[in-house]
Amino acid sequence: MHSFEYKGGVLHCEGVNLDELVNETGSPVYVYSKATILDHYRRLSAGMSELDCLICYATKANSNLAILNLLAKEGSGFDIVSGGELYRVEKAGGDPGKCTFAGVGKTREEIEMALDAGILSFNAESEAEVEFINQVAGEKGVIAPIALRVNPNVDAKTHKYISTGKSENKFGIDFSIIREAYERASKLPHIKVQGLQMHIGSQLTSIGPFEEAVKKVVPLVEELKERYGIEFFSIGGGMGIVYTDSLASGVGQWWDKKEEKPLTIEEYASTLVPLLKPLDLKIILEPGRFMVGNAGIMITEVLYEKRGSAKTFKIVDAGMNDLIRPALYEGHHDIVPVKEPSSFATEPVDIVGPVCESGDFFAQNRELPEIQAGDRIAILSAGAYGFVMASNYNTRRFPPEVLVDGEKSHIIRPRQSYEDLVSAEVIPD
Ligand SMILES: *Cc1c(COP(=O)(O)O)cnc(C)c1O
Repeated sequence: MHSFEYKGGVLHCEGVNLDELVNETGSPVYVYSKATILDHYRRLSAGMSELDCLICYATKANSNLAILNLLAKEGSGFDIVSGGELYRVEKAGGDPGKCTFAGVGKTREEIEMALDAGILSFNAESEAEVEFINQVAGEKGVIAPIALRVNPNVDAKTHKYISTGKSENKFGIDFSIIREAYERASKLPHIKVQGLQMHIGSQLTSIGPFEEAVKKVVPLVEELKERYGIEFFSIGGGMGIVYTDSLASGVGQWWDKKEEKPLTIEEYASTLVPLLKPLDLKIILEPGRFMVGNAGIMITEVLYEKRGSAKTFKIVDAGMNDLIRPALYEGHHDIVPVKEPSSFATEPVDIVGPVCESGDFFAQNRELPEIQAGDRIAILSAGAYGFVMASNYNTRRFPPEVLVDGEKSHIIRPRQSYEDLVSAEVIPD
C-alpha cells in the first residue's frame, strides 16, 4: 500500500496536505509515510508467520534514524553494510544482536566495531574475509559468528547494475566451491559457522528467480545444518516494487500505465514458505526497497520552462544529486503534479535538474499534464535508494526529510545549511 493520494485537488501524504507542507519546508523535500512503512513491515511479518522468521531491514535503502527507530520498535533486525550503518542502528535504538553485516569489503575497524557490538552474524563474501575475521576475533579473544554468502548463479532478470546472484557478479562465494569454503571456515578457531546467506539482486518483480534460487540452495542448507549445526538461512532481500501507476487508482489517468504487476507478499510467502518450512531453521529476510520504496516521494518545484526545437524541458529545483536513480540505473519514477490537474491533456516533456550533467534528469519524453513554472511536482516511489544516495555535488545542500504520521509531520532531517556544507574543510596556513 501507500498513502499518497489527492484529496480536495491536492496531493496528500496520509492526512497532510503536501502543498502546505512544502510552503513550510521549502523545495525540494523528501516525504515519507509512517503508516506505509509499518504496513509493509507488519504484512511481511504476518505473511511469514509460519516460519521462525527475522526481518533484517536493509538499512542502506533508507537509513534516517527516525525510520530505523520506527522499525526497531516493531522488533525488526537490520542488515548493515558498513560501520556507519551499525552506528546508525545503535543510535536509533536497534538491537545489534539482530544485525547481519553484509558487504564484500569489511575493514578491520568495521569488524572490530561489529564484534564489540555483538552482532548476530557477519555475512562473509569471500574466504579471505573469513580468515581476516578469524584473525581479528582471535586478537580480541572472541568467537565471530558468520554465515557465508553463496552465489547461486541465478539470473534475477533485473537491471544489470542491481543483479548480484550471477557468477560474474562480485558478490558471494561460488556455489561450486561453497562446501569447501564451509569446511575450511569451520576449522578456524575464532569462527562459529552460524548460517548461510544469499541475495540474488534487487527490484525483482517476479517470484521465479527467488523460487529457483531457494530450490537450488535448500539441499545445501540441509547439508550444512547436518554437518555444522547452522542455525539460520538468510534468503536476502530484493522484493521489487511497482514504480509505475503508483498513485491510488482513479486519479492520474494521464500517465502511461505499463501494467507493471507487483510481486505481492501473498505470492512471495505462498511460494517460499513451503520450501523453507521443512528446514526447521531461523529464516532471515533482508528487504530494503520493498519496505520503504513506495513509502516516500520527493517533491520539487518547477523553476523554468525551456522550449527547444526538439524538446520541451521543465527545469526543476531538485537534481541528480538529490535523487540519482534515473541517472544511475535508468530508474523510472512516476511524476504527478502536487495540485491535481484540471485537464487530462498531456504533452511530452523532459523533467531535468540544475546540475551540470546531461544525466541530470528525472524523466525524458514523458507525457505529463500541463505544469508551469512555480508548480510543484512529486517524484513518486523515492523512499528507497533516494536520499541515502544524495550527494553535495555542485555544492548543493542535502534536502530535508519529513516523516508524516497521520495529520502530523515531523522534520526528521532539516535542509542542510551552507555552514554545515563546508564545516569539515580546512584551509592550511
Ligand atoms: C541491498 C541488499 C539488500 C536489500 O535489497 P533490496 O532490493 O532493497 O531489498 C539485502 N541484502 C543484501 C546483502 C544487500 O546488499
